[in-house]
Amino acid sequence: MTQDLFRQDAYLRECSAHITAVTDTGIVLDQTVFYPLGGGQAGDSGVLVLADGTEIAITDTRKGKDAEGNPTSDIVHIPAPGQEDRVAQLALQGPGTAVTARIDWERRHRMMRLHTTSHLLCHVVPQLVNGCSITPDYARLDFAMTDPLDKEALTAAIATLVAAAHPLTVASISDEELDANPALVKSMSVQPPRGTGRIRTIRIGGDNDAPLIDLQPCGGTHVANTSELGAIVVTKIEKKSATTRRVVLGFAQ
Ligand SMILES: [Zn+2]
Repeated sequence: MTQDLFRQDAYLRECSAHITAVTDTGIVLDQTVFYPLGGGQAGDSGVLVLADGTEIAITDTRKGKDAEGNPTSDIVHIPAPGQEDRVAQLALQGPGTAVTARIDWERRHRMMRLHTTSHLLCHVVPQLVNGCSITPDYARLDFAMTDPLDKEALTAAIATLVAAAHPLTVASISDEELDANPALVKSMSVQPPRGTGRIRTIRIGGDNDAPLIDLQPCGGTHVANTSELGAIVVTKIEKKSATTRRVVLGFAQ
């Protein structure tokens, strides 16, 4: 099992950790700041730094799988091509070997900004989402709807929410609470992160008398305040099908 430090603090750029396994797929640690692909958000890249200063470049991060292909609670750090010798050496050192796990922070922070903006978009476009992808360069959300959407109007609505500096709060609800409030789930394509009895939620606004902007189950990494999002624009709106409108978010040039 890998302890997922990024869920409590998305701003951690590195942590010390110990190897628990080196497999054909990659390197498993006892704890990590690397986010594994999931919930539409891409996996982190970065480096593992060994005690002697040697670095192993990590190109992607995935959830572990057992022999039947079911997800495990391991997080697998996938070495970049060309790292085979270093990984083999690490495997020889065996479990317990200490490393520093350091993410490509600039890349991750771009994903945090786009992921949080995609939640703002759920407020601006209150329709069910049936597909989503968060990358360092763009985010796209597919809304199950037939009405047309206006690029400039959406960009302006997002800018207003950014300027209002709404704080984000990470909390959790029980499976029962979620079952009693099915409207919290705004995505038809991403399952809420169930399994531990508690489901992580991301709330934007809603403190004291402040307006609630958005509240939904989400396992992803987010900024602490919408003021940190900066200038994000809707770069494209596509009619993906008769019943789906795709909205693409990007950074203002
Ligand atoms: Zn999310």
